[in-house]
Amino acid sequence: MKTIQLRDGKERSLKQRHPWVFQGSILKGSAEPGETVRVLSASSEFLAYGAFSPSSSIRVRAWGFDETDRVDGAFFERRIAAALRLRQQLAINSNGQRLIHGEADGLPGLVVDRYADTLVAQFLSAGTEFWKETLADALLAATGLTRLYERSDSGVRQLEGLAPVKGWLRGGGDTEVELQESSWRLKLDVAEGHKTGYYLDQRDNRRDFATWVRQLGARRVLNCFSYTGGFSVAALAGGATEVISVDSSGPALARANEHVLLNGFNPAHHQALDADVNTTLRQFAQEGRQFDAIVLDPPKYAPSSAHAEKASRAYRDINRLGLKLLAPGGLLTTYSCSGGIGAEMFQKIVSGAGVDVGVDAAIVKRLEASPDHPTTLCFPEGEYLKGLALLRKD
Ligand code: SAH
Repeated sequence: MKTIQLRDGKERSLKQRHPWVFQGSILKGSAEPGETVRVLSASSEFLAYGAFSPSSSIRVRAWGFDETDRVDGAFFERRIAAALRLRQQLAINSNGQRLIHGEADGLPGLVVDRYADTLVAQFLSAGTEFWKETLADALLAATGLTRLYERSDSGVRQLEGLAPVKGWLRGGGDTEVELQESSWRLKLDVAEGHKTGYYLDQRDNRRDFATWVRQLGARRVLNCFSYTGGFSVAALAGGATEVISVDSSGPALARANEHVLLNGFNPAHHQALDADVNTTLRQFAQEGRQFDAIVLDPPKYAPSSAHAEKASRAYRDINRLGLKLLAPGGLLTTYSCSGGIGAEMFQKIVSGAGVDVGVDAAIVKRLEASPDHPTTLCFPEGEYLKGLALLRKD
């Protein structure tokens, strides 16, 4: 096995079981894309086994920190079994679950979602690409399923020198699947939907939103960046009667309308608006409209901290409008899925927005991704989704 030796003083993060080795930390050594390497400190102490990635600035992603480990099929079976055990412990009320969440599950660069009888995987690193066939077999064996669709069409693969790939890796058939979430039926197309087809990370927040809407007796609900209307279904389930889903994706909105019918809600209680959220919010503000509950779940404005400043302005803008449109006593649930903006910073941005429009609100809950998207102690960078549930003061 090839050896990668680190520069003096660069062993600290691996010793703390953080799985990334950056290019600048390496003194010498090289390998083929995805090849398993031994990583040693400057004084030749064993630190980790990892996957080498010659074109990425994250040059090695560690598989494990135990020298007695062997990185082979059985190793990946154990990692997958541990990830599945964690999901069992979480007792998730859905057959849509994130089974593997990359670094947090000891499998850097691998994302696997389960939608009913279908697995959808993203192989986002040279190491997961190298072990793709082994991982696919192990995933199906561990879950007892037969279908696995590959959605390695994410831009981040480029950083690893990998081309986009999409299609059935195991099994086949219809790419449209139906899942159950809370007591709702939701459909998605694993080939066409965003990411792996759906936003599982908001599952618990959708459930809680339904509860809040009912508790507050909210009738008028504005779901901004609705995608396929998950929060809109939740609002209708909570008893809302005037729900507006706003998104710039026509197919996503068609699906939102389908979800309203599929779950037996009155279609007259839901309106799908194919429009830019910013323009719509401004227009509603001009018209003096008010809502009892609003969801703001925009796409990632800041993929890294380098984009934080520009993103902050964009977040501040929509939150200003969101707060303005909120009826007194109304609920705003506002999110950021930007890794480059921490929870504390996000709260500051929303506070700033409140100051701008002269609105104060009580933070009734801090929101995060559902726990099948865990953040681990050793890899805090994994945290990306954060949000606030706010009740507007009169
Ligand atoms: N809340 C959703 C997920 C939102 S993902 C859920 O629970 O499933 C973000 C969505 O924002 C995507 O559907 C994307 O089409 C939409 N979007 C991005 N920019 C937009 C814009 N400027 N105006 C309207 N929609 C936008």
